[in-house]
Amino acid sequence: MPATKILSRDGTLISLPDSAVQNLKNNFQGQLLQPGDSEFDTARKVWNGLIDRQPALIARCTGTADVVAAVNFARDHKLLLSVRSGGHNVSGAAIADNGLVIDLSRMRGVEVDDRHKIAKVEGGALLGDVDGETQKFNLAAPLGVVSQTGVAGLTLHGGLGWQVRKHGLTIDNLASVEIVAANGQILRASTQENEDLYWAIKGGGGNFGIVTSFEFNLHKLGPEVWMSAPVYPLGKAREVMTFCRDYMAEAPDELMVIGVYWTAPTIQAVPAQHYGQPVIILLGCYTGPPEQGLEAIQPLCSITEPIADLSAQMNWLEAQQFLDKDYPDGGLYYWKSLYVERFDEDLIATLATHTKKRPSLESSIDVWFLGGAMSRVPDFSTPFHKRDATVMVAIEANWHKHEDTDANIAWARDVYDDLQRFSDGAGYLNFPGFVEDKNNMLRACYGSNLPRLMKIKAKYDPDNMFPGLLNIAPDNPGE
Ligand SMILES: Cc1cc2nc3c(=O)[nH]c(=O)nc-3n(C[C@H](O)[C@H](O)[C@H](O)COP(=O)(O)OP(=O)(O)OC[C@H]3O[C@@H](n4cnc5c(N)ncnc54)[C@H](O)[C@@H]3O)c2cc1C
Repeated sequence: MPATKILSRDGTLISLPDSAVQNLKNNFQGQLLQPGDSEFDTARKVWNGLIDRQPALIARCTGTADVVAAVNFARDHKLLLSVRSGGHNVSGAAIADNGLVIDLSRMRGVEVDDRHKIAKVEGGALLGDVDGETQKFNLAAPLGVVSQTGVAGLTLHGGLGWQVRKHGLTIDNLASVEIVAANGQILRASTQENEDLYWAIKGGGGNFGIVTSFEFNLHKLGPEVWMSAPVYPLGKAREVMTFCRDYMAEAPDELMVIGVYWTAPTIQAVPAQHYGQPVIILLGCYTGPPEQGLEAIQPLCSITEPIADLSAQMNWLEAQQFLDKDYPDGGLYYWKSLYVERFDEDLIATLATHTKKRPSLESSIDVWFLGGAMSRVPDFSTPFHKRDATVMVAIEANWHKHEDTDANIAWARDVYDDLQRFSDGAGYLNFPGFVEDKNNMLRACYGSNLPRLMKIKAKYDPDNMFPGLLNIAPDNPGE
């Protein structure tokens, strides 16, 4: 059998003798996939169809022991590695070209302790796995807004979802993690153990080890919630978005809204003459009792005459799946984001102008109205630095044909560049494009928390084995 050609961490291609791979196999319960294996091509694909990388080896783990074996193997042979959980990061960070992929996508177990309102969630779980188990007890963990996406990556960079104003970021509800460190040890991090690591994990990304399970604090929620979705013509952007901004400044924490600059959906509820036209949809969710929810969303639905109103009461699982169909696996995606410091009429008009220029009608610009519980946690208590942000703008280029790629990426970059004048340059690290401006992003997103994070990185991963965004020259932090 030929030796496996694989990249080492210093960037050289090395030959791993078959006996080394065989040794790993002997200590591994899951699958070790190599090019040519029947499942290899499926296993190297991620959600974003733009990413077409050829790893040398995929270690598909079934449990923590497999993760330990894979980490030891990577360390002993000094291999370039990547970590895959949901495989949803738009940058494709989950797959290293010519490297070893440590794949947790088969580790999706969720256990709920309803008495203590805690869920233990394996590292490869998707949001829907957690919602499905927790809703059996009318409980929920504060996660994101698309049920098919990965829990791990979302949590490690913060976690924004419908409960962010009521219960904070996902990390604000993270009680503990189990993590496999660079030396192969299984550590727990919580307020009781490895406190520095626990601090770093809450927003510091996949830099410190591989998280094999998360424990989340749960909250009463559902089964029914109200979702708002009035559809307004883009021509009414100023009226609609200034109202929404002012309303959200006073709104109860249970209400979270994303103002979506998008395209009128081709559905029966929307009059046909609007199909394909640019619109603003005030997509919101009230996570408190439904009878209060209707009252809370009503003002958003009557700012002016909507084209249609898709608002509805639904159960929490449906609310979490409301957007799933808009993000199919294998579509082409490029997403960037910026927190903005002034959400004024200039910005509202700027977003409308860029919306009209989209090369793909599936692309959107999403205005996340934040604040509430997220902003009440002190800045230094987690690495996540932008807690005082009240608005985040996510620029989502979504398209299908490879020949349209350049135009769509150029559009998103153009919007991103133009929005810099409304922002201090910080964006949400879970919508990082291709991480082109990594060092600026790190500085802007972690601010004064960056030096502390780098120290913890050096302590737990002295050889820069784990490929998170902090994986930069250790003597040059933030440069
Ligand atoms: C359709 C869609 C909707 C989204 N909606 C939201 C949203 O509502 N709110 C929000 O906050 N974000 C949202 N996101 C962004 C999402 O949180 C990120 O893409 C996130 O990285 C996905 O996590 P993942 O586990 O799939 O990451 P992967 O792509 O599997 O991994 C990305 C990186 O995370 C790190 N990592 C992953 N797993 C582990 C682990 N177990 N241990 C250590 N490091 C690990 C590694 O560095 C890895 O390279 C959305 C993304 C998509 C595609």
